[in-house]
Amino acid sequence: MQVRNDSGDSKAGSDAVIVWFRKDLRIADNPALRHAAESGRPVIPLYILDETPGVRPMGGASLWWLDKSLTSLAERLEALGAKLILRKGVAAQVLDEVIAQSGATCVLWNRLYDQASMDRDAAIKAALKDRGVDCQSFNASLLNEPWTVKNGSGQPYKVFTPYWRAAREHLTRVEATGAPGRLAPSDCAPHGDRLADWGLHPTKPDWSQGFAAWTPGEMGAHARLDAFLKGPIDGYGDQRDVPGVEATSKLSPHLHFGEIGPRQVWMATRNAADQGDIPVAEADKFLSEIGWREFNHSILFHWPQMPSRNFKPEFDSFPWIKDERALEAWKKGQTGYPIVDAGMRELWTTGFMHNRVRMIVASFLIKHLMIDWREGEAWFWDTLVDADLANNVGNWQWTAGSGADASPYFRIFNPIAQGEKFDPKGDYVRRWVPELRSMPDEVIHKPWTKPLHLTAGAKRLYSRPIVDHAKARERALEAYHSL
Ligand code: FAD
Repeated sequence: MQVRNDSGDSKAGSDAVIVWFRKDLRIADNPALRHAAESGRPVIPLYILDETPGVRPMGGASLWWLDKSLTSLAERLEALGAKLILRKGVAAQVLDEVIAQSGATCVLWNRLYDQASMDRDAAIKAALKDRGVDCQSFNASLLNEPWTVKNGSGQPYKVFTPYWRAAREHLTRVEATGAPGRLAPSDCAPHGDRLADWGLHPTKPDWSQGFAAWTPGEMGAHARLDAFLKGPIDGYGDQRDVPGVEATSKLSPHLHFGEIGPRQVWMATRNAADQGDIPVAEADKFLSEIGWREFNHSILFHWPQMPSRNFKPEFDSFPWIKDERALEAWKKGQTGYPIVDAGMRELWTTGFMHNRVRMIVASFLIKHLMIDWREGEAWFWDTLVDADLANNVGNWQWTAGSGADASPYFRIFNPIAQGEKFDPKGDYVRRWVPELRSMPDEVIHKPWTKPLHLTAGAKRLYSRPIVDHAKARERALEAYHSL
């Protein structure tokens, strides 16, 4: 086969294998890459900034992460002997071009589970196979693929506890594989874009200074897991709800981008527990959170309309309120409820928010302001470094009460009581809401009850609550009862 590369040279067919990276930005425990390496054929690693219509584009914080993660991946691949090719465009067209330019005869990738990605991948696979290009896909991002865990009637689970019980039964032998020792380089690899030309890092303004604590990439992911297993996991069960303490793994963006896979997390955690380095109960609790990630992916796979539609259709007639001012106050962390505002400001500054606080701010938006959960999901999508379709949509619907195994609609978090329970000394609030630093502990979650303290030492006045908790609660309950 004669092929033409971008410099215009005509080269003999290379028999190269394209590894199409997506949410698997790692070299270890990456079945598509391993398969390519084991074939002994030249490997062309490819990342496409995909513009396929219907595939949800990444938000700003995710693009920031992607920028750094691709830099790290490119370095790791280079060390193995292969150059990462970057391309932007509609994935099917880009693949066609790269195949034509390189003469590759095989394309490998790891699977994704949202409908738009699956439709795209199925169409690409069918078209390539028709043209005689070998095409294979693998599982890199889940412990159990969604179609493998079903109940006794062959139906997917809708409730987490039985789902996780059944899922664990499949996990008697979880094996994560290492990185390939070497990749055969391809001398037919086509040109790629320069990462800097994609402009993923924000400028004018650069709002990412607060993201500096993150280390995107495979090494950063393993460093996080190691540090977590050496420290915070001991006490995870008790402390994971306390936002003022660094008690959780912060692995979510690394898992989302596939810089570390759940098999690797599972093995490292189970091994540490088996060797007596960490308590078994804490390991189980931590792994059950990985289980929620699995559950949400399973729900999204079986109910693909979840990102736009209520899982429970009775919620379709919920009387949402359109209130741009309230929505803006929520986004900016100016609701007058300290725990809500602290969370929203942590999100804006760092691209992350503690899980307990995510639940509180989501409940506040949906129930106190009666703003559609889809507005909150969209804001999180743009601002979270771990923005993940399955987890974001699953958790927003969980909070709204409209999702699978959801929190009951009548559970309306009281933002004052939640703050007092989970941030009793106000450490978290003081960190993110500097106006309240001088407030005494007993009123830090209800500063309006001690207005004098607001001016004493405070740089500027902190807003009063934009809604009254008791009235908002009553209004929400009435709306829910009307369904
Ligand atoms: P850890 O407590 O260390 O947990 C380990 C891992 O388990 C996490 O990294 C994550 O992959 C998984 N996990 C933990 N909690 C959950 C959960 N409730 N649902 C699903 N997986 C979980 N998580 C995302 O990864 N992406 C999102 O877009 C996202 N949006 C959310 C929106 C709302 C409204 C809420 C309430 C939660 C959301 N979560 C999301 C879940 C959760 O808040 C984060 O996964 C968690 O805070 C990440 O912190 P961690 O890695 O320190 O978690």
